[in-house]
Amino acid sequence: MYKSKEKILIAVDGPAAAGKSTISKIVANKLQINYIDTGSMYRAITLKCLMKNVDIEDKKAVIDIAINSKIDFKEGNIYLDDKIVNDAIREELVSNNVAKVSQIPEVREILVKLQRKTGENASSILDGRDIGSVVFPNADYKFFLIATPEERGNRRYKELKEKGFDVNLDEIIKEIEERDLVDKTRKVSPLIKPVDAIEIDTTGKTIDDIVEYIINIIKK
Ligand code: C5P
Repeated sequence: MYKSKEKILIAVDGPAAAGKSTISKIVANKLQINYIDTGSMYRAITLKCLMKNVDIEDKKAVIDIAINSKIDFKEGNIYLDDKIVNDAIREELVSNNVAKVSQIPEVREILVKLQRKTGENASSILDGRDIGSVVFPNADYKFFLIATPEERGNRRYKELKEKGFDVNLDEIIKEIEERDLVDKTRKVSPLIKPVDAIEIDTTGKTIDDIVEYIINIIKK
């Protein structure tokens, strides 16, 4: 049984738009622990490359950007070089390029170090692709969220529409599937389900149901 004074680390992994960040944020709130969105860090580096017109295929240039960027995660905001970039990192162009940036081992090394440093400070829930397998293999709890591509596409579509983005459902499903394929097949830290992770199929389930299920496991 988890007691609020103990330090805990919770890893939430899974493919794109499986509900990881929505669920993790609520769980973090309920348990009064930190939430760290590791995907936003890869997105921030990608955004900076795009802003600086760096060719994403030019590994050296991308690594240089990663080395010379300041990324912070504070109070639910993602900062790139001291500027909040919460919305800019959700742009389609960033989504379409991030998997190429996150394939680069040196970029991962820099961000994994930052994730460990942030997570080690205090009780945290981290969501991403390699949290339970690489970043915190000794996490106290590991969850692996999945859902059908159609459900994931629909969720991402609604989320982006609500934020005012002009989006197309078929394109979003295609982008999600392409990104998953790159994430699953990359050489370094591919998206895998850790053997000791609890898999949750979120298809057709409400956010409340999934949050309750996770909290019950943690508080057992
Ligand atoms: O979670 P989100 O969809 O925002 O992640 C964006 C991308 O960042 C993923 O598709 C993946 O390429 C990369 N990523 C990663 N490792 C993580 C988190 C995200 O490679 N821990």
